[in-house]
Amino acid sequence: MAATSENTVQVDKDKPKSPDKKKTKYDVIIIGAGPAGYTAGIYCARARHDTLILSGILPGGQLVNTTDVENYPGFAEGIMGPDLMIIMRKQTEKMGATIIDDEAVNVDFRHKPFKVLTASEEYEARAVIICTGADYRRLGLEGEKTFAGKGVSYCATCDGAFFRNQELVVSGGGDSAMEEATFLTKFASTVHVIHRRDKLRASKIMQERAFSNPKIKFHWNKEIEAISGNQKVQSVTLKDTKTGEKTTLNVGGVFVAIGHEPNSKIFQNQVELDAKGYVVLKNKTETSVKGVFAAGDVHDHTYRQAITAAGFGCMAAIDVDKYLAEN
Ligand code: NAP
Repeated sequence: MAATSENTVQVDKDKPKSPDKKKTKYDVIIIGAGPAGYTAGIYCARARHDTLILSGILPGGQLVNTTDVENYPGFAEGIMGPDLMIIMRKQTEKMGATIIDDEAVNVDFRHKPFKVLTASEEYEARAVIICTGADYRRLGLEGEKTFAGKGVSYCATCDGAFFRNQELVVSGGGDSAMEEATFLTKFASTVHVIHRRDKLRASKIMQERAFSNPKIKFHWNKEIEAISGNQKVQSVTLKDTKTGEKTTLNVGGVFVAIGHEPNSKIFQNQVELDAKGYVVLKNKTETSVKGVFAAGDVHDHTYRQAITAAGFGCMAAIDVDKYLAEN
């Protein structure tokens, strides 16, 4: 692959243009279509392996819910998360991978070829790469369920515009929370950041951006104890983590940004998972089952960046290439 002087992506012209979406047997099945899945797809298809990506219900993964990505190399002016994922998908398709927008609901890695099942189809492959990423962590409150879509949200980019001139709450102290809070000031009258400690986990630059925004108010050592309302969110009850004192904030929306959990449920009892549900890697990117590999946030709880997920996707595809050559 080479970049032209206009910086457009040029791919080999002799790759299959219209993959057969009825096929059920592949060399490699990649489960998930975030930066890890697409990168693995690009490398596997380019190595001439018959490659299927089951992209799940939300192709593009977490970046679809992100605004500006400023730290993905190659985009000096930054790029919107969804745009980056559209480019990756196009590049993967051009390389010849088949992408099906369906969700894997079950797998069977006990026998070869491996089986990956969707609600309507059973696929087989000689190798599998798990790239299912991670999903939003929930606060675990009753009101979170009751008011889901009625004022409780996990995605400022998706829902922020519904809350014009309202007071909002953002829960969390990491980069996601700072990003969400800053973004929401475009719409909200005030954004209250609720953090359970008195120090943020977010990076310096994200902290500075939030601290300098006059619409953001910080509430230190506080937890959301309850979300209340009538039809939709009207208030939150805060509990001081040091004194136990309770206070109420009248707000129209609650944005939860407290991290993520790996999407590994269907792999329970199939590959080894750690106590938090992350896929355990045994040999480079290979899992506890030979021929089954993993890449991205589903195994990586340390770096969790788009670029590292893409890097892991590349590594897993190279490991798959070697595995297929040897088996
Ligand atoms: P994170 O770094 O794990 O932060 C989660 C935050 O939520 C922490 O402040 C944590 O509090 C709090 N928290 C966790 N569980 C909680 C609970 N049950 N109740 C209340 N608070 C809770 O997650 P993240 O912010 O989603 O970031 C994940 C990764 O993505 C990071 O590596 C981050 O740098 C990256 N990221 C980067 C960007 C960017 O550069 N544009 C944007 C978003 C994310 P404690 O601090 O007390 O643990």
